[in-house]
Amino acid sequence: MPLGDYDYNEAHRVVVCRRCQSCIVPGSTGQVRHMRAEPHRLQGDALKATAALLAGYDLRSAAELRRDKPAWDSACQPIAHLPVYSGFRCIDPSCNHLTRNLKKIREHIASAYKKKAIEYRTARLWEACTLQSYFSALNLVDYFIIIGAVAAASGSNNSSGSSGSSSSGNQVQPVVEEEPFTLTVAE
Ligand SMILES: [Zn+2]
Ligand SMILES: [Zn+2]
Repeated sequence: MPLGDYDYNEAHRVVVCRRCQSCIVPGSTGQVRHMRAEPHRLQGDALKATAALLAGYDLRSAAELRRDKPAWDSACQPIAHLPVYSGFRCIDPSCNHLTRNLKKIREHIASAYKKKAIEYRTARLWEACTLQSYFSALNLVDYFIIIGAVAAASGSNNSSGSSGSSSSGNQVQPVVEEEPFTLTVAE
């Protein structure tokens, strides 16, 4: 029996739901809840059979996924069927703050590095990157950096092709806001 809507990713030890574009929360409770809910609505034998298949995989727990998510410099390949986002990362090696929101990275830099603002005045404080998250549920979203085309700030270098969709089905979602960033230094 095929896995249906589900795709086991051996490298990450996760099961991706193609329809929901999210990994399924590991563990039988999360899996069953997922399969019972929209859009799957599995019941009875179909639910049991799929649950049995998923139980056969060696999956990492949600805590392990959070703890061991790909490092920013690990050259992680995009995971098929998960959304791809344009985002930003704080370049402080001890911080690695990630966000999709330009306003948020600006706020992070301004609040976390206030005292060092002068040192950073001429240096770049953040850079654009490409993000994915194992889970799409808001309370479980935890971004990590993948290899991917960073959206050009000018918008002039849009990727070629009319359809714009890659073979894996990933499509880069635009950033929330686009504005040039300048750090204001007090005094
Ligand atoms: Zn699903
Ligand atoms: Zn930071």
